[in-house]
Amino acid sequence: MHLSLVWFRSDLRVNDNTALSVAASRGPVVGVFLGSRTQWRQHGHGPNKISFWLRGAAALGESLAKLNIPLLYRNTEHFDDAPETLLTLARELGAEALHFNREYPLNEWHRDEAVIEYFHRSGLKAHAHRDSVAFSPGELLTGKGDFYSVFTPFSRAWSRMVDASRLEVLDAPARQQTLEISSDPPPAVLGADAPETQASIERRWPAGEEEAANRLARFLEQRARRYAEDRDYPAIQGTSELSPYLSLGMISWRQCMQAVLTINQGHLRDGDAGLTAWVNELIWREFYQHVCWGFPKVCRGRAFQQHTEGLEWRDAPNDLAAWCEGRTGYPIVDAAMRQLTTTGWMHNRLRMVVAMFLSKHLLIDWRHGEAFFMEHLIDGDFAANNGGWQWAASTGTDAAPWFRIFNPTTQSQRFDAEGHFIAEWLPELAELPPRMRHSPSTDLVTDAEYPQPIIEHKTARQRALDAFKSLTRAD
Ligand code: FAD
Repeated sequence: MHLSLVWFRSDLRVNDNTALSVAASRGPVVGVFLGSRTQWRQHGHGPNKISFWLRGAAALGESLAKLNIPLLYRNTEHFDDAPETLLTLARELGAEALHFNREYPLNEWHRDEAVIEYFHRSGLKAHAHRDSVAFSPGELLTGKGDFYSVFTPFSRAWSRMVDASRLEVLDAPARQQTLEISSDPPPAVLGADAPETQASIERRWPAGEEEAANRLARFLEQRARRYAEDRDYPAIQGTSELSPYLSLGMISWRQCMQAVLTINQGHLRDGDAGLTAWVNELIWREFYQHVCWGFPKVCRGRAFQQHTEGLEWRDAPNDLAAWCEGRTGYPIVDAAMRQLTTTGWMHNRLRMVVAMFLSKHLLIDWRHGEAFFMEHLIDGDFAANNGGWQWAASTGTDAAPWFRIFNPTTQSQRFDAEGHFIAEWLPELAELPPRMRHSPSTDLVTDAEYPQPIIEHKTARQRALDAFKSLTRAD
């Protein structure tokens, strides 16, 4: 009997799971999920994401059980414990091989390489599969053989090179013969330093691949064709809200792309404007994974553009606290931050607005914002978060030009014209006439009700421009 152990991480599904399919094609399978509480916390994940991970693992256990595949849970504190824990388990079970899907941020890559080496040294096989991306990093390079550092040429190359085999969706494995091994489900919480997430967040984001598939179907049926027009308006539910599910692999990017192909006459990049715009976002997701691998310094907390390390960020704890708590006096920024801390998610347009506000208006190091997002986001994903923050702070690969600084009030007037989003998250402004909600003056609200802006836009803009101008470009 060729028994394989499949190690699930951010790929919590039975459908279209490369490692699971390959392992199951060779014989019976046992699944394992490692809870790495201390490591997850060190990587900045907060209770929302950790709880979603555990709930996702529990849902995966139920899906696997229907296929007679046991899922075992093992508690490890650190990634360093993974090789020994997995090898011990493989030996206990008499497994001949380990299978898992590759992850590309540096720490995960090192963890996986350590596991592969440990298994090989011990005479067992460990197979790492490409699954979360269409192209392994290094497969898509510029004409000069470099990693892409700009999205548009990357996405063109991606679209040119992607073929049916890379988009193929794999079925869940067939039900296997019963093994004499009982499942061992993950705990609902992981101890005091990872407190339970709020019940409202759990209700808003049920875990599991069934939920993810339903969300995809609803999005494609009801919203996708208007995605290009609606996606920038936070008061409209215009996007898929699939990011938590994609980030933990409760749905695969291929399942998303195949669903688009089915309703868009076999096209990914032509045809319906909404669908093609959405596909473009999925390619952004892959782009940032390639960036992590191609430019590992971003995983070490460094700016992609070396010269921007010379920026003189302000040490301004009160301003940082006001931003975190939604008390900047810019309603669109504050409403967005309250959406994040209340729901574990923030609309993409607003992620850009608040990230630019922190890094430009307040001139606070983007790394503080990146960490705060990671602590609260249920979709916290190192590659996308780091990429988004470095974009906003003009330090990254595809960075916004440093002189482009969103005016939060104009953004608010443009993307929340009627102030509906502001009213939803800032009830203290909900009684104001809609157009007054973007920048309420002192005769409309008292300071006690809502703060005045912590900095004036023009002054802040000039300060940021001066800071960037003073940089010398060495790279
Ligand atoms: P949709 O608009 O429906 O897009 C579909 C999917 O494409 C998303 O679920 C996501 O997987 C992917 N995607 C969309 N936009 C991007 C993008 N710009 N970069 C990478 N992938 C993208 N996304 C995360 O998944 N996790 C993060 O931690 C994260 N942090 C961000 C931080 C900042 C400062 C910024 C500007 C963006 C960040 N994003 C992050 C990207 C984006 O904001 C979210 O993916 C998106 O808002 C999720 O909503 P949705 O699922 O409705 O997206």
